[in-house]
Amino acid sequence: MNYQRFFEEAIDQVHAERRYRVFADIERIAGAFPRAIWRSEGKVEEITVWCSNDYLGMGQHPDVVSALQNAAGRMGSGAGGTRNISGTNHPLVELELELADLHAKEAALVFTSGFVSNEASISTIARLLPNCLVLSDELNHASMIEGVRRSGAEKKIFRHNDVAHLESLLAAAGRERAKLIVFESVYSMDGDISPIKEIADLADKYNAMTYIDEVHAVGMYGNRGGGITEREGLAHRIDVIEGTLAKAFGTLGGYITGSATVVDAVRSYAPGFIFTTALPPAIAAAATTSIRHLKGSQAERDAQQRQVARTKEVLTAAGLPVMPSNTHIVPVLVGDPELCKMATDRLHGLHGIYIQPINYPTVPRGTERLRITPTPFHDDLLIDRLRDALVETWDALGIPYGAAGRPAVASSERIIPLLVPKSGG
Ligand SMILES: *Cc1c(COP(=O)(O)O)cnc(C)c1O
Repeated sequence: MNYQRFFEEAIDQVHAERRYRVFADIERIAGAFPRAIWRSEGKVEEITVWCSNDYLGMGQHPDVVSALQNAAGRMGSGAGGTRNISGTNHPLVELELELADLHAKEAALVFTSGFVSNEASISTIARLLPNCLVLSDELNHASMIEGVRRSGAEKKIFRHNDVAHLESLLAAAGRERAKLIVFESVYSMDGDISPIKEIADLADKYNAMTYIDEVHAVGMYGNRGGGITEREGLAHRIDVIEGTLAKAFGTLGGYITGSATVVDAVRSYAPGFIFTTALPPAIAAAATTSIRHLKGSQAERDAQQRQVARTKEVLTAAGLPVMPSNTHIVPVLVGDPELCKMATDRLHGLHGIYIQPINYPTVPRGTERLRITPTPFHDDLLIDRLRDALVETWDALGIPYGAAGRPAVASSERIIPLLVPKSGG
């Protein structure tokens, strides 16, 4: 038996489907986001990152970095074990209080990632409810799909954000059957927002439980960064609010918040929580600092929204096919997997800009795109350079412009993309 062969064939399959990924070898420069060092084939260069999920740049915030350093200096690097076996490091206790307060819930539970929090919580909740029917939005994240699958519960998929479809499925199940609706607030590939109020109304009408993933909204929406549920005043209408500490909060980890009973049940039954070492205390301390900062400071959210609006405006004015989005995510349509890859290679090679191509199966075929995420640190000059680099790339590769077409731009209005300074090897 040649075991290696099966793995080679599996990899060949990914190549054949043109889904094989090569990761960029980058080193983000704290204090200079969105600048980073990119290493490839022995070359070392400085680039601008336009596809980070460190949406507010909190990963380089001096208070967050020093909270991490201080806690590591006092308590060391690791947690020392699972919480069941080795107890809970105090910074994790504080973090959970902070999170419960953020979403105005009774309790919170922290996991080692957002992925694990969804997988562990959804599977446990749906498994503890007798004969539960899970109603899941068709565009839900892989971690939620895994949770539903692992629960062993029956599931029905409703069309994306389609409340009429959801209602027909709820009505068919009847008021008496246990039902769990799982959905997201911000869907991160299109940047659209779900009809949370309508879904909460349906949950009341048909007596269903609700679970929302606010991963792409926490820190960024609501007066204190409590997400879209906070912004819309709907947090109290959702049973479980899940989020990550790894995106806008700039650290690592995931969590759920909800009633003390639901959280205690997940704590007591979820293998993905019980049998794995807790988050390091330094990460917990950094996350708490980041959440506290964003609870009290509107500056990062305002700056992000301003730079996002400007990016959409500038790219649209250049005729680029910016896809509609109500959020901080700026998708630009390419519509072809090869072109999408060529475009991002060219943006890197010629313009020193890093944007990851988004291809099938992450998005439907024919909607391959660049997914651009402006942060408060992408200033107006960087946005202008991005536009010029995209226009040059669109022209060179013959990628279709938006419906309005490419407007004539006087060359004097164009900023010539600066050649990327090469730093020493
Ligand atoms: C990134 C992501 C997660 C997972 O969060 P991590 O903390 O990165 O594991 C969960 N849900 C959605 C919608 C995501 O995009």
